[in-house]
Amino acid sequence: MGMKADFKLIDDNGLRIDGRLPNQLRPLRMEVGVVQRANGSAFVEWGGNKIIAAVYGPREAYPKHIQDPNRAVIRARYNMAAFSVDERKRPGPDRRSVELSKVISEALTSVVFVERFPRTSIDVYIEVLQADAGTRVAGITAASLALADAGIPMRDIIVGCAAGKVDGVVVLDLNKEEDNYGEADVPMAILPRTGEIALLQMDGNMTYEELTNAMDMAIDAAKEIHELQVKALKEKYRGDEHDY
Ligand code: ADP
Repeated sequence: MGMKADFKLIDDNGLRIDGRLPNQLRPLRMEVGVVQRANGSAFVEWGGNKIIAAVYGPREAYPKHIQDPNRAVIRARYNMAAFSVDERKRPGPDRRSVELSKVISEALTSVVFVERFPRTSIDVYIEVLQADAGTRVAGITAASLALADAGIPMRDIIVGCAAGKVDGVVVLDLNKEEDNYGEADVPMAILPRTGEIALLQMDGNMTYEELTNAMDMAIDAAKEIHELQVKALKEKYRGDEHDY
């Protein structure tokens, strides 16, 4: 974010470097039930991002001192594979993945009916196999699909989506170049039914009006992304009917 580009991010026709309109998402594909041993799982391919989420639990929380007698503890672990970016990423947790794991855990906790599962943990593993900007929001989208696949009751299937500003224009779903050379990136997690926002972070600068536009754009897109989530879930369960 904030690096100076020696090329235009928005052309004379108002199109972005990958040909998208300002309010257009990158191509999105989702699949549910991709990891056999998990209670629930999902694969999301979003632009150049490839992400797997796997859910285990609710199961007795271990170590015991993390147990909450009143509710389940959601532990999300965001991890970027060493081969997911251009330069090899040093394996293992770093400050960024610790932060992302924390904010993703909090966003998911706000939708799951955690009080129904006291003393348990719900472990959510988010593995980024290929990264191309927007991995935290793609990770949240995959994680909520995996939670739904695991049959965990939720208020809504949460959706992650980012919006931001490049070349002075408010745009949806920044790609890597836009993330590097743009002016602002605002990742959000949204409850598509109500438009409630469960996570909002901001890198860079925007005016209040631009931020409101970016939020409206992401809330609209959340409905579109949610439809794809429902379609992916239906595909899996329709498939199951044929198996029996
Ligand atoms: P997000 O992926 O949620 O947009 P960031 O804004 O922190 O999160 O990162 C933007 C992009 O920068 C990532 O999607 C990834 O493509 C790249 N990136 C992040 N961390 C690293 C790293 N350690 N090495 C190389 N590229 C990275």
